[in-house]
Amino acid sequence: MSSVIKVPFVSFKPLEAEIGDEIKEAFDRVIQRSWYIGGIEDEEFEKAFADYVGVSYACGTGNGLDSLMLSLRALDIGEADEVIVPSNTYIATALAVTYTGATPVFVEPDIRTYNIDPSLIEEKITEKTKAIMPVHLYGQPADMDPVMKIAAKHKLYVIEDCAQAHGAYYKGKRIGSFGDLAGFSFYPGKNLGALGDAGAAVTNQKTLADKVRALGNYGSDYKYHHIYKGVNSRLDEMQAAFLSVKLKCLDKTNEDRRRVAAAYLENIKNDKIILPYVMPETEPVWHIFAVRSADRGRLEKHLSDRGIGYNKHYPIAMHMQECYKDLNISKGSLPIAEEISETQLSLPMYYGMTDDEVGAVIDALNSF
Ligand SMILES: *Cc1c(COP(=O)(O)O)cnc(C)c1O
Repeated sequence: MSSVIKVPFVSFKPLEAEIGDEIKEAFDRVIQRSWYIGGIEDEEFEKAFADYVGVSYACGTGNGLDSLMLSLRALDIGEADEVIVPSNTYIATALAVTYTGATPVFVEPDIRTYNIDPSLIEEKITEKTKAIMPVHLYGQPADMDPVMKIAAKHKLYVIEDCAQAHGAYYKGKRIGSFGDLAGFSFYPGKNLGALGDAGAAVTNQKTLADKVRALGNYGSDYKYHHIYKGVNSRLDEMQAAFLSVKLKCLDKTNEDRRRVAAAYLENIKNDKIILPYVMPETEPVWHIFAVRSADRGRLEKHLSDRGIGYNKHYPIAMHMQECYKDLNISKGSLPIAEEISETQLSLPMYYGMTDDEVGAVIDALNSF
């Protein structure tokens, strides 16, 4: 049975219909002030976002990749250093390490949670290891207690990649408040998205906050005084103003994603589909609703035929990417990441999905 309604993989329309006027007011406010970089909008958003995460400081950056790269640089991580990253993540996690001159060392995920498997971290630690970068992938918190324990034991820094999990809870605490630093992306499709590129690094340590800020502003601590060879990666006033409007909606939009996820988890019943697993004592925010199927190619056609959008996160494991050929990691050596890249499929997930749309996705999965 083909469904009558088409369901996109993602849509911003339902939220934009609700906040369009406020977005326009924010735009007018910034134009009125005629001040576009490093001002009151930036300050106010940073303060509100730090409060939201439950940390002392947030530093706006140009994008999520830079929030991670500048966090690593603030900890003096660079050439000859190694940083542990999960083998299953968006490539930006590893590229952030590469850009500092350090080497990403991949650790396999737990096949149930898709997040880094803490029991596999210690065997990858060498004298060169400086930090662990857990990723809260698909909006599911990584298992932070064992990660923090291993980091303390080996005196390693922890930088959380929170690009997909704004607002998620691990044991009653928001993700982003565990590590020395954490990086967030506000790419439009993320749970908290700007109307363009933006990001932020958060921390409880003032010295690190100051250093990230300086590094993202040409390494300058005050005007025309440069203490680091920094880059230009700042959150502009316009995006900060838009983000302040959207931050107020984040709990509501995350709650709505939970409604969709709960419907999928309860009603998709098909032996050929592996549904996501939720770790006890965590509250995911469902950036992505990831299923797996051994017969993904046929599932893709089945969904396409029914007008159901989908995506793959991610179809090529990082160690198999051309750009990382130099790491010399052969096919088969990170089998869990490879398995996920071959079987994972992301279902439609966005704020404001109608019951009919959710139902159409469920029917399509159940008839596969
Ligand atoms: C989106 C994303 C990033 C990078 O964010 P940008 O804002 O696109 O630079 C980093 N890590 C993960 C896991 C992401 O999903």
